[in-house]
Amino acid sequence: MSYVIIGNSVAAVGAIEAIRKVDKEINITVISDEPYAVYSRPLISEYLAGQVKEDMMGYRAPDFYERNGVTTMLGRKITEIERARKSVKLDNGEEVAYSKLLIATGGSPFIPPMKGLGLGGVMTFIKMDDAKKLDAMVPELKHVIVIGAGLIGLKAAESLHHRGVKVTVVELANRVMATVLDVEAGNIVQKALEQAGITIITEDTVAEIIGDSAGMANGVKLKSGKALDCDAVVVAIGVIPNAGFAKESGVEANRGIIVDDHMRTNLTDIYAAGDVAEGPDYLNGGVRVMPIWPNAYIQGKIAGFNMAGVDREFGGGLAMNSIELFGVPVITVGLSNVESDDLEVLTKVEENSYRKIVLRGSTVVGAVFAGKVERAGMVTGLIRDQIDVSDMRDRLLADDFGYIDFPIELRKERLGVS
Ligand SMILES: Cc1cc2nc3c(=O)[nH]c(=O)nc-3n(C[C@H](O)[C@H](O)[C@H](O)COP(=O)(O)OP(=O)(O)OC[C@H]3O[C@@H](n4cnc5c(N)ncnc54)[C@H](O)[C@@H]3O)c2cc1C
Repeated sequence: MSYVIIGNSVAAVGAIEAIRKVDKEINITVISDEPYAVYSRPLISEYLAGQVKEDMMGYRAPDFYERNGVTTMLGRKITEIERARKSVKLDNGEEVAYSKLLIATGGSPFIPPMKGLGLGGVMTFIKMDDAKKLDAMVPELKHVIVIGAGLIGLKAAESLHHRGVKVTVVELANRVMATVLDVEAGNIVQKALEQAGITIITEDTVAEIIGDSAGMANGVKLKSGKALDCDAVVVAIGVIPNAGFAKESGVEANRGIIVDDHMRTNLTDIYAAGDVAEGPDYLNGGVRVMPIWPNAYIQGKIAGFNMAGVDREFGGGLAMNSIELFGVPVITVGLSNVESDDLEVLTKVEENSYRKIVLRGSTVVGAVFAGKVERAGMVTGLIRDQIDVSDMRDRLLADDFGYIDFPIELRKERLGVS
């Protein structure tokens, strides 16, 4: 038996740990195009900000692979799955055979066609090498344009600001983090960014990146006609699953690779997990890409168990985002920013804080906490377990909402007390 895992990040770790719980002997080979041992990808912004060093970013101890008997092939890209031979092809033509295969290839930045993309100083920000490249450029940088005010763009903006670089964020929507935040919550985050000195331009986008005679980016032209000088551009518009090579090899995919509740693809002995997978959605049914760290680990683990012959079902992913920007914590869970006739919204707006609960019938299906996040964990539990909140709905947004508000039976079950 020989298991091959493509990708060496959190989904791969989940799978390795599950496989080794079941079987210590199976050969496991991890192949990834990044040259590093597994690291905490979300920490690349702290690295760029100068708040963590590279040696603090490991997601597992340095002996992880050795202890788990894993062969690594790092800095190597898979270009094709040879289904008939049950092998994967590397970019140098070499083939590695598998009895079971896990595709855990995550996502790549979405880069829309735009004049000037090939200029020096035009960057993306999702890998360690992106952070290192930007870090090396910082001493020369005076003004950076970040395209996109999603989580990744804003984290890059905050990190560069910490390093003393002037930053302007350009966003097509009318607010920051528009996919998960409504206008009120978006405004709180935007205010914090602007107060810190970051310029945010909304309802506009970069139409063209301008370069100097040496081929370096030195400005942008916005769709509105406005021109801005800069020394670098970070494109952070979104992330698309790395499913292309698998799709070409016959694996069924939409946006991501479609998997069932066992992380199986349409092809025998081929599984997918993490940001590349379109897996079951807990709240809405159907399948969906849910590109968050905990989801990738759990999916990897489910895939690993099933590959090793232990039946494990994925209960479905729950969308969650937790971010702190310039001291403002923001947590979103579930259907945080969806408008629909069957949803009811409760909100509480205070100076510098905003809380929102989204109900479907008698259960909570979404929440936003901006500024004040103390009750977010408890509300997430209500969403995850789909608790009937009929008797506590008026208390859900209270500052002192707590287990005391839970019906007595539930309190006993949760806390073992009455
Ligand atoms: C700046 C930033 C901040 C983030 N912050 C958060 C956060 O606060 N909370 C949160 O939950 N999530 C956060 N995320 C998202 C989180 O990092 C991802 O959900 C998670 O890393 C997905 O893990 P994965 O194992 O599916 O794939 P990835 O971590 O994307 O790893 C996939 C690996 O596969 C490699 N690969 C791709 N194609 C091939 C190929 N053909 N051959 C070989 N190797 C290949 C890739 O290079 C990569 O190394 C953040 C992401 C970024 C970039």
